[in-house]
Amino acid sequence: MASLPPAPTSTYRGRIAPSPTGFLHVGHARTFWTAWQRTRAAGGALILRMEDLDPDRSRQLYADAAMEDLRWLGIRWQEGPDRGGPHAPYVQSKRRASYLAAWRRLLRGGFLFPCRCSRKDLEAALSAPHETSLAEGAGPQPNGKLDLLDDEPVYPGTCRHLQGSSPQLPGPTSEELDSPGAVNWRFRVRDGEAVEFVDLNLGPQRFVAGRDFGDFVVWRRDGSPSYQLACVADDTAMGITEVVRGADLLKSTARQILLYRALGLREPAWFHCRLVVDHNGRRLAKRHDSLSLRALRQRGLTPMNILSAELPVEV
Ligand SMILES: [Zn+2]
Repeated sequence: MASLPPAPTSTYRGRIAPSPTGFLHVGHARTFWTAWQRTRAAGGALILRMEDLDPDRSRQLYADAAMEDLRWLGIRWQEGPDRGGPHAPYVQSKRRASYLAAWRRLLRGGFLFPCRCSRKDLEAALSAPHETSLAEGAGPQPNGKLDLLDDEPVYPGTCRHLQGSSPQLPGPTSEELDSPGAVNWRFRVRDGEAVEFVDLNLGPQRFVAGRDFGDFVVWRRDGSPSYQLACVADDTAMGITEVVRGADLLKSTARQILLYRALGLREPAWFHCRLVVDHNGRRLAKRHDSLSLRALRQRGLTPMNILSAELPVEV
């Protein structure tokens, strides 16, 4: 019988937020374990939130498996899809109203513009010779795989500059001012603005808008909020005081800080975990079945083996 988590004795609220698009692997285990350890050390509450915004790839099977794997590791949470809690639902696909409210606040605050560029337009702009410096660091990772969440190339600014000035690039329609419609909505960054924060694990961080990231999408033309917007809305609504996640999301954190500021919200503390790499220093592929917790468990590994520094890397 799984033990219950201890009752919180402080106001610290941490969270773990798996995406049910595959089985959890070693990297997730380390990050979620760190989040749990920090919550425990602070005498706080741990919240489990299922980040299932991608309807094509999210599966209930993976959500159930994630919770089972986390319990097997020994992680316990006070609030989550299986336990309920004061901030339910703990599943992103059921929190759309809250994301729309955040989108409207940003729009009314003048922070957003509709982007009608197609994927092709963006690719063409980014591959143009004079744009190569902008695209630097935004392309495929060294291992040839795009990071799923942080892969947004620096936006060339097409719709930002020309909005409303030509029939091809109209401003928002009156319908779009109330509901997002079938365009991408981007957050307008101030080029050259530095976003700085002190990470509790990695120390001072500094990113520059327009160089490290551009005008980023907060609402997609397919009708779903972006990861950045949903994350900020949820962490705020759920009272999260410290966000523990992988260092691959540092640039996302910089974008999210801009959203916190625009919405007049207080940002949580940040703790980014170093990424799990193999013996050659290469980052492990996010989805490698042989490194899923399930596969490792079947091979007889214990949670201790998986969480210890000795990594079972044979792929
Ligand atoms: Zn555009």
